[in-house]
Amino acid sequence: MILKENQDLTLYNNYRIEAFCKRAFLPQNEDDFIELYTVHRDSKKIILGGGYNVILSKKYYEEDFLLIGETFAQYKVTGNVIEAEAGIEMKKMSELALAHNLSGLEVFYDIPSSLGGAIVMNAGASGSEIKDHFLRARYLDLDDLKVKEITKDEANFEYRNSFFQKNTNKIVLKVWLELISGDPVLIREKMDDIKTSRWAKQPKDYPNAGSVFKRPEGHYVGTMIEKLGLKGFSVGGAQVSTKHAGFIVNYNNATGEDVLNLIKEIQEKVYQEYNINLEVEQRII
Ligand SMILES: Cc1cc2nc3c(=O)[nH]c(=O)nc-3n(C[C@H](O)[C@H](O)[C@H](O)COP(=O)(O)OP(=O)(O)OC[C@H]3O[C@@H](n4cnc5c(N)ncnc54)[C@H](O)[C@@H]3O)c2cc1C
Repeated sequence: MILKENQDLTLYNNYRIEAFCKRAFLPQNEDDFIELYTVHRDSKKIILGGGYNVILSKKYYEEDFLLIGETFAQYKVTGNVIEAEAGIEMKKMSELALAHNLSGLEVFYDIPSSLGGAIVMNAGASGSEIKDHFLRARYLDLDDLKVKEITKDEANFEYRNSFFQKNTNKIVLKVWLELISGDPVLIREKMDDIKTSRWAKQPKDYPNAGSVFKRPEGHYVGTMIEKLGLKGFSVGGAQVSTKHAGFIVNYNNATGEDVLNLIKEIQEKVYQEYNINLEVEQRII
C-alpha cells in the first residue's frame, strides 16, 4: 500500500480544482483494501477512481482518500472475456479489446474513467453502456469486510446508476466484461470516429468533468441551457461552456464552491422556464 501525506488532489479531479487531503492511500492489491479498513477503520474515507466525475467542494479534507488507479490495474484476457482490477483506465481497456480483436468497448476509448468508476456510474454513450458487457464483479463489503461477488442481475444497472452508487459501503475490486469477436480494422475505425465526433462537440480547452446533469426524459440538457442564453455564463472561475452548454468548465481557477453555485443558478433558471428539476450526475465530495 502506498501512503501519501498532505496529498495534492488537483491532478486527481478532472475539473483540476485545487484541494488537498491529509492522507491518501493507493492500494496495490485486494489485501491492501482490507488492511486499510482494519488498521485505519476509524477514519472517514473518500473513494476516487479517475476523479473524472467529481466536484471537490472543499479546499482541504481531513478525511482519508482512497485513490483506486494505476497502482491497482492488473488485467487478464481469456477468450472474449477481460477481467481487470478496478483502477485500470477504460481507454486502456478499449485498446486491450482492440489488441485481442474484441468489440464492445469502442465508446470507452473517449470516456475518461477507471473501470470501477464506470461500473459505479454505469458509464456509456451513443446507446452503449458498461452494463451491456458486465458479467460479474468482486467487491469489498465494508459491512463485514468480506470480499463478495455480484452478478449482472444483482448489480441493478440503470441510466448512470448502479447497485454500487446506491450502496457506497461496497468497493468494486475486480470486474469481468464479456465482449464479442470483431474485425480490428472496423473496431479501430469505430474508436476513431467516436473520438472525432465527441471532440467536435465537447469542450477540450478547459478542464471539466463531462456532462453536469443527468438527461431528463424527452429533453436535451445542453439545448435547454443554451436556449436560456447561459452559454458563457459564469460564477467565479466556473463557466457554462461556450461550446456545449451541458458542460461546466474551470475557466479561471474555479473553486468547488464556484462550480456548485453555478449549478444552483442553472437549476433555478431551468426550473423557472421548463418546470424541470435537473439532477446532478457528478458526485459532490
Ligand atoms: C470529458 C469528459 C467526458 C465524459 N463523457 C462521459 C460520457 O460520455 N458518458 C458517461 O457516462 N460519463 C462521461 N463522463 C463522466 C465520467 O467519465 C464517468 O462518470 C466515469 O465513469 C467516472 O469514472 P471515474 O473512475 O473517474 O470515477 P470517479 O469520478 O473517481 O468516481 C465516481 C464515483 O464512483 C465512486 N467510485 C470510483 N471508483 C470506485 C470503486 N472502485 N468502488 C466503489 N466506488 C467507486 C466514487 O466514490 C464516486 O462516487 C465524462 C467525463 C469527462 C471528464
